[in-house]
Amino acid sequence: MPKIILMGPPGSGKGTQGEILSALWNVPRIAPGDIFRAEIKQGSELGLRVKAFSDSGRLVPDEVVIDVMRTRFSQPDTQSGWILDGFPRTVPQAEALNDLLAELDQKFDRVINLDVPEPVLVERILLRAQEQNRADDTEEVIKNRLEEYYAKTRPLLEFYGTHVVQIDGIPSLENVTEAIQQQLVIA
Ligand code: AMP
Repeated sequence: MPKIILMGPPGSGKGTQGEILSALWNVPRIAPGDIFRAEIKQGSELGLRVKAFSDSGRLVPDEVVIDVMRTRFSQPDTQSGWILDGFPRTVPQAEALNDLLAELDQKFDRVINLDVPEPVLVERILLRAQEQNRADDTEEVIKNRLEEYYAKTRPLLEFYGTHVVQIDGIPSLENVTEAIQQQLVIA
């Protein structure tokens, strides 16, 4: 079963592809952003801790995210395959993931990076804001999210080096899904 790290800037279609691939491959999509939104909605202690970061488009501190992911990986559905969507987002998170996978005797197959130029990203995020009414999709927050991505997440492409497969994220949803699947078949 595939074990995939899905990467790409906000608005690259990462979440949507993650959902499609999760259904196709019957593996869980693990997305800290979704976990945080659910916790914020419940008003849990974790939710209260991460709300200000999430609402402003800033990254939640590494130790909080890593802790959440460790807990998630302790659940039995992560044993045979998964799609990581939105984790890791910093080099320390990637190092923590390496440690965690070594402990679990697991390896990721591929890092898939959805490549979309910035003007297209902003357009897509604004459109999604209208459709979904997400609190973190105002123009100021979008700016912060992109800033965080370029400063802290994009360097991960170098961290993962030859493990990274670049996928053009501009074509239709179906074409992008197809391109990702092709990469895994060839692998
Ligand atoms: P997302 O739905 O993946 O865009 O995540 C929404 C928000 O959750 C982000 O803007 C961050 O505040 C927080 N978040 C999600 N994943 C991470 C992560 N790996 N590291 C730090 N913060 C995260």
